[in-house]
Amino acid sequence: MTQKNTLFVTRPSMPDFDEYIKEVRDIWDSRWLTNMGAKHQTFQEALRQYWDIDGVELFTNGHMALELSLQALNLQGEVITTPFTFASTTHAIVRNGLTPVFCDIAPTDFTIDVTKLERLITDRTSAIMPVHVYGNVCNVEEIDRIAKKYGLKVIYDAAHAFGVRYKNKSVAALGDVSCFSFHATKVFHTIEGGAACFQDPELGAELYRLKNFGIRGPECVDGVGANAKMNEFCAAMGICNLRHIDEALTKRKAVAERYCELLKDVDGLQLNPVQKDVASNYAYFPIVVDEKRFGASRNEVFEALAQAGIGARKYFYPLTSTFDCFYGRYDVSATPVALHVSKRVLTLPLYADLSLTDVEYICEILLKCRR
Ligand SMILES: *Cc1c(COP(=O)(O)O)cnc(C)c1O
Repeated sequence: MTQKNTLFVTRPSMPDFDEYIKEVRDIWDSRWLTNMGAKHQTFQEALRQYWDIDGVELFTNGHMALELSLQALNLQGEVITTPFTFASTTHAIVRNGLTPVFCDIAPTDFTIDVTKLERLITDRTSAIMPVHVYGNVCNVEEIDRIAKKYGLKVIYDAAHAFGVRYKNKSVAALGDVSCFSFHATKVFHTIEGGAACFQDPELGAELYRLKNFGIRGPECVDGVGANAKMNEFCAAMGICNLRHIDEALTKRKAVAERYCELLKDVDGLQLNPVQKDVASNYAYFPIVVDEKRFGASRNEVFEALAQAGIGARKYFYPLTSTFDCFYGRYDVSATPVALHVSKRVLTLPLYADLSLTDVEYICEILLKCRR
């Protein structure tokens, strides 16, 4: 347990080997390996049930779900988003030839600050792309109100939000589209994979076409699509993992609660909030370190944990708006809260199989580095 480099920030939940092999056996027998086969269909149907929503399209990964959702909505001009996220969110916008306009985040839950959103809307704005960062649910009522008032589309980056429920409903049904990631490092995974959830069946048909080269029929290709189909082996992993998702969420909850008990009263550490009306998925355990009050900086904590073989991550640092590939393009002073948080945040290891003893060890190292 206390050996070097043994505690990663995340570790995928795996189904029983034989359970997965049972699904793979069917694929072997059928020789149907990809292109919307039986496992793809079964998995898609299982997700429809889980999310209680008809519109579900599967993808190779979460990024392609985001990128092709923006394309399917046929957007122009500017998209309002936040820079406190993974590269994918911003890249999906830029790769569609759209301009990201960065809105600041709320200091409490790190999602888009809706009080600063409306002033960023111009006659070029076509959509809002908020992120349920760490699985924290955005202020969806206010986003909905603003989007309706200005006729904007809403695409949620829900990559962190698998299993999250808001007012007793899945977050998959929010906005025009909600996109999930099933990457190995996420709460729920299909090795690599993703999904887009939507209400409008026509949008679903467009997404299906775009993930398959824009092919409408054997002799008709009328869209410039990509190849973003989920293969059968990934769908099989999804089928297995979905059977055990409730158990995985319960285990994550126990880990997060132990962290909370040990860290909640520590001066200079801000923890992720408990949100009203939200059933959390305990996707991440971020702490925001105030150097003066805590007695060590975020980077010092990061180093101390690394020395002890604990792989914390600076999620999300740097802000996407300051990436080298965007050098000189965006004004970081427009998002002061995002900048402040990104310089102080650290996410601690959290996965279903992390033992409570390991959580105690991590907190011990963390608290020992105070000067
Ligand atoms: C993981 C992630 C993505 C991209 O998902 P992939 O499945 O890795 O392509 C997008 N947005 C956020 C916020 C993520 O964390």
